[in-house]
Amino acid sequence: MTQDQQEAKIDQRALEVCVRCGTCRSVCPAFEVLGWESKNTRGRVMVAKALGEGLAPDASVLDSLNTCTTCGICAAKCPAGANPPAIVQAARRGLVSQGIMTEAQAGFRTKVAGSGNTFGEVGERLAWLSDAGAIKEKAEAVYFVGCLDSYRYPVVAAKTFDILRRFGVALLPDEKCCGSPLIRTGSSALKVIDENLRQIREMKAKTVVTGCAGCLSTLKSSYPPEFEVVSVPEFLAERLSVLRPRRLDLTVTYHDPCHLGRHAGIFDPPREVIKAICRLVEMKRSREDARCCGGGGGVRAGYPELSLEIAKRRLQDVPAGVDAIVSCCPLCIRNLSDAGAGVGAEVEVIDLVDLVARAIGPP
Ligand code: SF4
Ligand code: SF4
Repeated sequence: MTQDQQEAKIDQRALEVCVRCGTCRSVCPAFEVLGWESKNTRGRVMVAKALGEGLAPDASVLDSLNTCTTCGICAAKCPAGANPPAIVQAARRGLVSQGIMTEAQAGFRTKVAGSGNTFGEVGERLAWLSDAGAIKEKAEAVYFVGCLDSYRYPVVAAKTFDILRRFGVALLPDEKCCGSPLIRTGSSALKVIDENLRQIREMKAKTVVTGCAGCLSTLKSSYPPEFEVVSVPEFLAERLSVLRPRRLDLTVTYHDPCHLGRHAGIFDPPREVIKAICRLVEMKRSREDARCCGGGGGVRAGYPELSLEIAKRRLQDVPAGVDAIVSCCPLCIRNLSDAGAGVGAEVEVIDLVDLVARAIGPP
């Protein structure tokens, strides 16, 4: 059984683990906004179980399963050790395999199949790269840019690569979507995974560095363990003594992306980098307890109002008087920025790399 197929299988024992205690009701960000048990962790687990027992899927079932951002805070808090986001993902996959899906889910499939990226963009993925000579045939380490930075934050992609290439990190010649939006929303990502893998293998890369939390999670869990996957904050934290950033007179806060923090356990490296540059004041809820930005799991595409409302609630955790919110995931940055603009919040949301680029000189 391939990794891809494993992700599609609902583990019946996992469904039995949930003892319906309701602890997750106090943490699920979607439930906090929507207020229905069917849009809460426990309700979703029950829906997944009922589907296995023959429940006919209707629109309310699709909404129940697809309003989960896969943030994982329920799994972190569950006293019984259940892993609800994995159950939700497998249940989505089961329905998608029968052709039952929302428009947003179908949209991801069409766009990635047609263009190799999650937006259906036809433009050059490496349009941000000014030096075509940076493409190498072989490299020990490659930078996996991701769809969001490639097409929505090309300046961040350029700044990231400007730092990474100082340490010999190269680019894949024809990177595709990592597969995260497909996998999270219940579709197969084997085609893009195979294509990225072929290039990683051809380049003989032993390390893949990425600045996107969604790509990181996917590269770590849905690709064969042939290479080390390193997040940009980890990479930077290990090289602070070489980069020697100067101090900036700024106070920032840090938003833990769910797929970097809770899912991958990477909490300290971004904080080490920030503290080497400026003052850090923690959000009201941070690290394992960090609230979701509302963007993940296909929720931004499928339920934009819910997604923005979750992000607005996350912004309420921002301490007063900070100059910026720093994060390490373009999807979090996008969703929090949009929510901030919606409520007239003046604090900008920036990538950790933006902060580092301000504090270091040219190579
Ligand atoms: S998922 Fe965990 S926290 Fe939620 S009801 Fe089930 S056992 Fe309780
Ligand atoms: S992963 Fe997050 S959004 Fe999904 S059920 Fe758990 S707490 Fe709710």
